[in-house]
Amino acid sequence: MADITLTSVGKTFSGTPAVQDISTRFEDGEFIALLGPSGCGKTTLLRLLAGFEVPSQGTIRIGDRDIANGDTGKMIPPENRNMGFVFQSYALWPHMTVRRNVSYPLEIRGFSKAEIASQTDAALTATGLGTYAERMPSELSGGQRQRVALARCLVSDPDAVLLDEPLANLDVALRASMQTVFTDFHKRTCATMVYVTHDQAEAMAMADRIAVMDNGRIQQFDTPQNLYERPKNRFVAEFVGLGTVVPMRGVEKNETSAHGHVLGRRIAINSTHECPSHVCLRPENLTISETGDLRAKVARVTYLGGKYLLETVSECGTRLLAETRAKFEVGVQLGLTITTPWAFYED
Ligand code: ATP
Repeated sequence: MADITLTSVGKTFSGTPAVQDISTRFEDGEFIALLGPSGCGKTTLLRLLAGFEVPSQGTIRIGDRDIANGDTGKMIPPENRNMGFVFQSYALWPHMTVRRNVSYPLEIRGFSKAEIASQTDAALTATGLGTYAERMPSELSGGQRQRVALARCLVSDPDAVLLDEPLANLDVALRASMQTVFTDFHKRTCATMVYVTHDQAEAMAMADRIAVMDNGRIQQFDTPQNLYERPKNRFVAEFVGLGTVVPMRGVEKNETSAHGHVLGRRIAINSTHECPSHVCLRPENLTISETGDLRAKVARVTYLGGKYLLETVSECGTRLLAETRAKFEVGVQLGLTITTPWAFYED
């Protein structure tokens, strides 16, 4: 079992916290993404899991093994954690062929020649590298090099694989195809995967659950769908997907429905909180119609392929985003209707 459990984990650099009070659990076999803006602590958290950093506080466990304890100073070194690492920079041995890069972890562990050959061949085939086995890393494309790094993980049969922005150096088309390589790898190995990225589309496409981080803390740890449809606070609502957070008042809830006043209109809302204070208006919560009584002016039009994103400004100056198949010109006045947005509580 490779559940990873973090209890009150913190990391401070020269008195400044990079990761603060993180208590959470990554389930065995889950694909987890750590997502957040630059400097929010994603890489530090990954390095704590890897054993490249010692926590200042708290404990990290894999299965029933304590691997790091900030209070006692106990620390299992990276090479004894049975984890694989995949970095943005690939970290391949430049003087070894593809085959040797993949087989080397088995050589170090003292496997027999026959075992090394069969396991290396299996890993090369699984990552589509069979025909590149005798090439040097310098003779490969970025995507192929990243596949060598994955094959090297696969051959080691790790409990968990830690990936730090592994696609950041690749172009957009290759990133999309490599996402399939990663999800296939995950299905094949059943390893727990922890994947750092600042690209939410990437996180949404691959992860079972995403930990959205800000300022060293996990703001919400949830499925991609829940993060988008049920954000817990303003930060998550604004960071994940498009939309506008607007204050609400006069909330009335009963067993079957909930309503509140938003931008001067009484509307139906969705919420699990007793007394929500804000709504998140996603483009799909705003319908353009002749009869829409919320008047707004089109300020910007962006073509998204098959549809347009309209950035509008309401009479009271609120920026609202709507999507439409029909093209509208900048400056046109529209009627908008708000349909059942998600509401949450924020101080
Ligand atoms: P990015 O997406 O830009 O890589 P990140 O979310 O991965 O950012 P971290 O690299 O974890 O962020 O950094 C979190 C904070 O800790 C930042 O303020 C960073 O400057 C600081 N930090 C990270 N490593 C060190 C270090 N070795 N010494 C001092 N400060 C550090």
